[in-house]
Amino acid sequence: MTERLTGHTELIGLMAYPIRHSSSPAMHNEAFAYLGLDYAYLAFEVDNSTLEDAIKGLRALKMVGSNVSMPNKTVVGQYLDKLSPAAELCGAVNTITNDNGVLTGHITDGIGYMESLKDYDIDVIGKKMTIAGAGGAATAIEIQAALDGVKEISIFNRHDKFWENAQATVKKINEKTNCHAQLFDLDDKEALRREIADSYLLANATGMGMKPLEGQTWLPDTSYLRPDLIVTDTVYAPAKTRFLEMAEEVGCKKMNGFGMMLFQGAAGFKMWTGHDMPIEHMKEVLG
Ligand code: NAD
Repeated sequence: MTERLTGHTELIGLMAYPIRHSSSPAMHNEAFAYLGLDYAYLAFEVDNSTLEDAIKGLRALKMVGSNVSMPNKTVVGQYLDKLSPAAELCGAVNTITNDNGVLTGHITDGIGYMESLKDYDIDVIGKKMTIAGAGGAATAIEIQAALDGVKEISIFNRHDKFWENAQATVKKINEKTNCHAQLFDLDDKEALRREIADSYLLANATGMGMKPLEGQTWLPDTSYLRPDLIVTDTVYAPAKTRFLEMAEEVGCKKMNGFGMMLFQGAAGFKMWTGHDMPIEHMKEVLG
């Protein structure tokens, strides 16, 4: 690292709190080193109370950009100059680019999910998907899928604090994209069975499957699945959730959330450096 850092080294940040556990610095710095690029990626403990000053700092230091995570994703937009269409629709930002002083907010979680599907030779464009979830990850996926050309999205969520956001997401998709979205109660098992039956892909974007809900899923049993259904999870620790175990039992093609994590990073990497992240190398290092 010390040999790599020079007077020309460009800085990219990650602003969140808590943040010391993040794997993003290791991912980006490994990719810079592997490609011989003169950038450094550092995590900064920034919460809502210091976010505005941190963004001013980003401008003053002419940083190339930054990632933003909780609790700043839905707050940072007001300090930026522009938003990407997906960030505008999601009401959230996880990546900032600095184009000669013009700061643009992007959300790359949905891009990461859609790219990870392509990486698995899964083509959902023009087809129907059913997805459970209405939080940050789910919203980003649903909006990006609609923008990219998925034909129909059936969203399921329980009646919790995310329900209103799910309603807003459905409204935005139906008004601003060519995709048709509908919202259902996750407890409505009849609707769940019916919507899955004519879907090409079924996705979990809830927190069920990872700690503290490890070993759990909202899918009642394997009779809701069929072998030609594609099944994906946003969770990647554990690598195989109960949801994906059920998909495996039925013989479905399945994908966990590792690719989404990798490709959301790759999308920012490309915006900041103009270079493709060395995906196969990163899979070996991080996988
Ligand atoms: P969030 O807190 O914003 O949303 C939580 C979602 O889970 C909501 O839809 C909520 O209704 C649902 N939920 C929570 N407990 C539930 C339960 N007991 N039964 C049914 N539904 C329940 O969280 P998020 O940031 O959107 O993350 C959701 C999942 O996606 C997490 O597992 C997270 O690890 C994963 N994730 C993965 C990536 C990636 O890059 N692979 C990125 C972000 C999030």
